[in-house]
Amino acid sequence: MASGVGTQQLTILGSTGSIGVNTLDVVRRHPRRYRVVALCAHSQVGRLFEQCLEFQPRHAVVGDSSLAAELAARLAVAGCPTEVSHGPEALLRMVELPEVDTVMAAIVGAAGLAPTLAAANAGKKILLANKEALVMAGPVFMRAVRESGATLLPIDSEHNAIFQSLPSNYSGNAAESGVLGLSLTASGGPFLGMAVSDLESVSPEQACAHPNWVMGRKISVDSATMMNKGLEVIEAHWLFNVPADRIQVIIHPQSVIHSLVQYADGSVIAELGNPDMRTPIAHALAYPQRIAAGVEPLDLYQVASLHFARPDLERFPCLALAYRALGEGGSAPTTLNAANEVAVQAFLERRIGFTAIPLVIAAVMDQLPLAKPLDSLADVLVADRMARETAQLCIAARHPG
Ligand code: NAD
Ligand code: MG
Repeated sequence: MASGVGTQQLTILGSTGSIGVNTLDVVRRHPRRYRVVALCAHSQVGRLFEQCLEFQPRHAVVGDSSLAAELAARLAVAGCPTEVSHGPEALLRMVELPEVDTVMAAIVGAAGLAPTLAAANAGKKILLANKEALVMAGPVFMRAVRESGATLLPIDSEHNAIFQSLPSNYSGNAAESGVLGLSLTASGGPFLGMAVSDLESVSPEQACAHPNWVMGRKISVDSATMMNKGLEVIEAHWLFNVPADRIQVIIHPQSVIHSLVQYADGSVIAELGNPDMRTPIAHALAYPQRIAAGVEPLDLYQVASLHFARPDLERFPCLALAYRALGEGGSAPTTLNAANEVAVQAFLERRIGFTAIPLVIAAVMDQLPLAKPLDSLADVLVADRMARETAQLCIAARHPG
């Protein structure tokens, strides 16, 4: 299909996930503006098949060769000409395609780093949902964006809100723009009101039942521990070049204010809306224009009141660990992120309890050298691998045999 003038050509990494599905919902509303060139997923062949039939991408990518064979066979029977490939190399090819101008980076976790970084190196417009990529490789990723002239637009609702609340010509110099600091709002997750002593026995199902947002399982657990907000503090530091002590976290259970920027003259600028990821997705897709996202208008009469509180670090030790990692610098955020991914997976598989997640992360951070600066992707991958191995050992030591 020929693309019309001005049509944005998209590769969607993680198309079958929560962000991927929401992205396609916005794209579906604007068929003349957006053309899907490549859909990339891991294992949900059935959902990817349906997406291929609807959006007719030139390419689809899955995790391995048997899934690829299964998808290709189903597409052939359905008469859909999408070409199927598989594995990490195929993801890199999909973001580097010359006809692709925009990449939605919505693979969860460290698996998204290589293709997201490749999009940065290729100078694409990157819609960044995969915060773990930025947390684990902050300096390397931001250098790639600068050197290639890539455009980086945040999808994480808090960072999208801050992006919208900063001056449009913000260059990364907070003082020059009169920015005193950033305030990231946090819902507090499903365990905000629970007695701290009861947290030990909560189940993965309880942790994944978020009060305001429907999300993938990993980020849902991160929201319950508030590591999600910790990762977002680190993400905000790299995106907006603001130091840790100027990034504040505020518990705001309604999730109506998505984050705020504090200015030197006393002004506070915020972005508000219903908690629906299609808003930041549509904002970034159309930037600097505005398009309909399918989101209900915010009814402040209905909302009636908004609440704010300081986070309790005893209840949410993961938040303190993230500030510690940002303060230590070097490979500390990479180590934090990798240990967290391993600990969250172990919790989801019921190998450790909920309150063991921060204990595993802290043990890994205590055992590994953290000060080494990250100069390359290779440095990032070494720190990531060491932290994963150490985290697995810590988990095994908690449950011998
Ligand atoms: P999800 O679990 O619903 O989806 C993850 C997607 O990644 C799936 O499409 C899956 O196929 C793909 N994937 C997983 N492992 C892969 C691998 N090894 N290779 C290729 N693809 C792989 O997750 P989600 O909630 O959509 O979150 C995606 C990212 O967006 C995360 O980094 C998350 O932190 C971030 N984010 C999500 C939300 C939200 O509301 N869901 C909000 C802000 C940020
Ligand atoms: Mg967020």
